[in-house]
Amino acid sequence: MDGLMMNYQLTLPPILERAGTLFKDTEIVSLLPGKVEHRYTYGEYYQRTRKFAQALQKLGMKKGDRVATLAWNHYRHLESYFGIICGGGVLHTLNLRLHPSDISYIAKDAGDKYVIVDDVLYELLEDVIKDYQFEKIIVIRHDDKPLPEGTLDYEELLATATDENWDYPEFSENDALGICYTSGTTGRPKGVVYSHRGTVMHSFASCMVDCNAIANSDSILSIVPLFHANGWGIPFAALMVGAKYVFPGPFLDALTTLDLLDKEQITLAAGVPTIWSGILGELTKNPGKWKLTPGCRAACGGSAPPESLILGLAEHGLRVMQAWGMTELSPLGTFGYLKHSLKSLPEKEQVTYLTKQGLPLPYVECRVVSDEGVAPWDETTMGELQVRGPWVASGYMNGADPDKWTSDGWFRTGDIAVIDPEGYVKLTDRTKDVIKSGGEWISSVDLENALVAHPDVREAAVIAIVHPKWDERPLAVIVPEDGKKPTKEDLNEFIKDKFAKWWLPEAYTYVEEIPHTSTGKIQKLKLREMFKDWKW
Ligand code: ADP
Repeated sequence: MDGLMMNYQLTLPPILERAGTLFKDTEIVSLLPGKVEHRYTYGEYYQRTRKFAQALQKLGMKKGDRVATLAWNHYRHLESYFGIICGGGVLHTLNLRLHPSDISYIAKDAGDKYVIVDDVLYELLEDVIKDYQFEKIIVIRHDDKPLPEGTLDYEELLATATDENWDYPEFSENDALGICYTSGTTGRPKGVVYSHRGTVMHSFASCMVDCNAIANSDSILSIVPLFHANGWGIPFAALMVGAKYVFPGPFLDALTTLDLLDKEQITLAAGVPTIWSGILGELTKNPGKWKLTPGCRAACGGSAPPESLILGLAEHGLRVMQAWGMTELSPLGTFGYLKHSLKSLPEKEQVTYLTKQGLPLPYVECRVVSDEGVAPWDETTMGELQVRGPWVASGYMNGADPDKWTSDGWFRTGDIAVIDPEGYVKLTDRTKDVIKSGGEWISSVDLENALVAHPDVREAAVIAIVHPKWDERPLAVIVPEDGKKPTKEDLNEFIKDKFAKWWLPEAYTYVEEIPHTSTGKIQKLKLREMFKDWKW
């Protein structure tokens, strides 16, 4: 017997329509270059975005054409998001922190037709277009400086849309909606192609109470750039429910963030752990300076927030919510919250659960596969984390790297994890970063988290170094706090209760700075390169 429900397609225009008709008065606030504040409503956003979609079509954008953006977080980037997609194009967010040659490689691989660029990023684009020519360059101007030759002005383009009765093109839910490239931590960037359906489903999941709990009453600050894995999917989820939306423009520093948290009464802010530790630093220096909304959620992803960060922010009323995800997962995969049945545990044990990456979201299936097959949920058997689900990529753009999918249809994440008896996923490493000592795996992530809790340690990274007896042993690279230099004895003493003896770092070395990727992750590849001649 067939179900008798409509085969209503899960596409993006209904999200824009809902935002623009039900929530006309909701505000969108942006800090623009020069710290100019811009405020308008969903009602105005809706009118302009529909116009932009129409204007792009008039310019020549056809169904499936890729349109790139190279921009900071602000209202016109959000207009481009929905304008491109609802006009039938495919939104391709370019990561402005990559090297220009990587950006042109990515634009070429994706076959981008147009690019929308912030005037303040035009210099970067000039280097990109040496290697790849877009058909049209659309410039978002933040001041009165003349337009670069041969380019189009965003506002002038928008003004060409005059048809009051314009309507969206026909979509199927499996049509491509956007492209985002992996940041290339583990090889050449690869294109992930999102579908309307996957993104709509992901938005529902993101709004769940046991996830980001995005609601109409929220005031959201997107610190995470809109070019990182769809700004973690927040733009789509926020518009779906009509939440107030605040953008910091190019100002990602802790002080500006804190001012915005206070002034805009933010209830949910999203950023990587590095951002949050900067914020914690300022809050510790000036407690009480900012009036934060009680219970404000600090969504944290991209790398693991250490326990010290979770507890530190909690003291200032910020509730860390950890998510694990990947560009290939739209990006949410698991979410860290406490099951009801665990809420009676002592506080210390509760925190242990919150430092794990969390429980799989509905419809995201997770399994850990070790050399012996699918691992039991015993919290000790490490293996590769594999996933499948409706918003998980089924392949890369242009068929790159097909080996990332298993023959039975799971995506190989490249993360090493364990699953505990309650079903919480806990990442221990990335495949390429594991330390194998005497045939056993040591988790560099666990060691790093324990080390940064030491008051004299600002940042810690642990890498594998070849060892004559044990194959590999852990070397800890430490950025000490100013004027401090904790010894190996101090540090091993500090963490020894948490680990088996053979896990403790074999040696410590001190640096002023640890290299990071464009998405704020520790660049282990570079560190291994720096210490390749290390002698025990
Ligand atoms: P790339 O893989 O190119 O660096 P992504 O931004 O997609 O780009 O990064 C995904 C990776 O980030 C995951 O595979 C995982 O290693 C790491 N990651 C994401 N969230 C977390 C988290 N909460 N804890 C630890 N690692 C995380």
